[in-house]
Amino acid sequence: MTKRVVLIGHPVAHSLSGAMQQAAFDARGIDARYELWDRPAISFPDAISEVRSDDFLGANVTIPHKERVVPLIDRLTEEAQATGAVNTITREGRRLVGHNTDVPGFSAALDKLVGRAKMPRQAVVLGAGGGARAVVYGLIRVGFQRIVVFNRHLHRAEGLVKHFGKSAAHMDLRAMPWHESIIESELAKTKVLVNATSIGLTTDLSPVPAEILHRELLVLDLIYNRTRLLQEAESVGCVANDGETMLLHQGAAAFTLWTGQAAPLDVMGQALSTARAGGLRSAEGEPAGDEPAAAATG
Ligand code: NDP
Repeated sequence: MTKRVVLIGHPVAHSLSGAMQQAAFDARGIDARYELWDRPAISFPDAISEVRSDDFLGANVTIPHKERVVPLIDRLTEEAQATGAVNTITREGRRLVGHNTDVPGFSAALDKLVGRAKMPRQAVVLGAGGGARAVVYGLIRVGFQRIVVFNRHLHRAEGLVKHFGKSAAHMDLRAMPWHESIIESELAKTKVLVNATSIGLTTDLSPVPAEILHRELLVLDLIYNRTRLLQEAESVGCVANDGETMLLHQGAAAFTLWTGQAAPLDVMGQALSTARAGGLRSAEGEPAGDEPAAAATG
């Protein structure tokens, strides 16, 4: 019988994950179908209950439900627990296990960004949503010693710092108010800049003015586009990558969790490019319908 995997979010209609995962199932000869379920908050718990049945290999969860799903899950992996967010679900019988594959997705993107250079120890992170949580956890885990988080609403950045209290006890993780001069002075001391805000997703805006970028910066934008930030970073000589690697590797990690097989990365990458050329977008960061943006997670 054909097994099912669902992406549950709101909205999900234009998701790239469908194309990427279906191509992977087909390439590996796995009889499974990847479905998109658009579920607002009110019907979300029922959708999660449905996934407990034998028909399902598991699920992906996306904006705006990644945090909301946590109490509905029976067991969380270390990454899901640490970030407080779940983007992938597997089944153990009728029990559900929550994973956060944005963390290994980000780690793959960071490795690519740094390349053969020595892993830096200081980073500036813009944003404090679900995506930023995966980023900060990935940076802590790889040994960063100072991470400064800037967010439009400072209290959310402070909440993030508090959330990581224990895992960050050995290092300097702090929230700072979103002022250009403070961001500039922090960037002057840092090597890695990650944009985990959605600024640039649907507009041609950059979260920071080009003048405060310096050429030694390694810049990663989680947005799966050549954003203004990336263009300006490149023009001052920075290494600057978009969110493609993270998206691909979070999907690859999810595929392996559902199937126990290595993910066909080439096939998935190709499917992403084709779907994107056809006008599809990542469900990550799609405008979240009638949900307030602050409730959305990465
Ligand atoms: P959230 O909705 O959880 O967080 C959005 C973040 O963007 C918040 O920090 C928010 O600040 C900030 N923000 C939004 N609009 C503005 C604005 N106009 N000015 C200043 N700050 C703003 O989203 P996610 O964390 O899930 O996603 C963030 C970005 O990361 C998205 O663009 C998404 O596409 C991308 N992403 C990519 C992934 C990938 O695989 N490549 C994975 C996950 C995310 P505030 O709290 O003040 O509202």
